[in-house]
Amino acid sequence: MSTGFQPLSIIYHQNYDIPVPKIHSFVGSKFSDLFHYLQKNYASSLNVITPSSAHLDKLKQAHQIDYIKKVQENELTKDYLRLINLPWSDRLRERSFLETEGTLLTAKEALKNKIACHVGGGTHHAHFSYGYGFCVFNDLAYTAINLIEEKLVKNVLILDLDVHQGDGTIDICQNYSSIYTCSMHSNESFPFDKKNGWMDIGLPAKISDGEYLKTIEETLKKIKKKVTPDIVLYDAGVDVYENDKLGNFKISLEGIHKRDNMVLDHFLNRNIPIATVIGGGYSKNVNELAERHSIIFEKAIKFL
Ligand SMILES: [Zn+2]
Repeated sequence: MSTGFQPLSIIYHQNYDIPVPKIHSFVGSKFSDLFHYLQKNYASSLNVITPSSAHLDKLKQAHQIDYIKKVQENELTKDYLRLINLPWSDRLRERSFLETEGTLLTAKEALKNKIACHVGGGTHHAHFSYGYGFCVFNDLAYTAINLIEEKLVKNVLILDLDVHQGDGTIDICQNYSSIYTCSMHSNESFPFDKKNGWMDIGLPAKISDGEYLKTIEETLKKIKKKVTPDIVLYDAGVDVYENDKLGNFKISLEGIHKRDNMVLDHFLNRNIPIATVIGGGYSKNVNELAERHSIIFEKAIKFL
């Protein structure tokens, strides 16, 4: 019997967590923390889907084959690992293949159901031939390119509202005229070598809710005038939060609620499917971090 109720597809794998020392900025348990938080609060509204590992033939659309093989064979040298800035482990290798495919699976679910959310993803600093800033493979570039290669869509908008610029995404996608990258980020934080994507909005540190939300509203209008994408990949990074360990914006929790609501409302009203990834978020308080990352899921459930 159909009740007309549609659960939200969320994509998650129990091997997303990575072993990271407690002193490290990256919270290695944040994926299972978020997943358990979602199960506790929204279990009846969720349809959990598990990804498989990304295949070589699809990965090489976004990454250099030599680099992929180095990851696969545990052969990354110290120079590569210094750029990634995470302790190397079998789990990190395994989860890198899983989460990359996880974002593609999220996008495919969004094409079916208008919206789907990844309990991970947003590894936007990974470049074509090397990983960078906690990112091994670039799930956003991988997804956009493979959606087009598989002829599921003609064009893709990658909307990246993480506090850090998605430099790797821009680099990998720059040769694809049908992938539109829009990044809104801090001018005064990592990565300091900013790239030129389709649309880049660099904001000053310490920006607060009013100005931030106004800029997003204007940006959405500007995007609308230029392109009607077949799908949006939305990086809902919560490192814009005022007390984030690695961010420098002054955005309140209410501001993040309003931001995510505005983005979903805009694209769903235009009948454009949207796939979300969690992006960055850094805090020693793992419960608060899970709650912050859950905002986009809460909003998505309300729109279904
Ligand atoms: Zn970030």
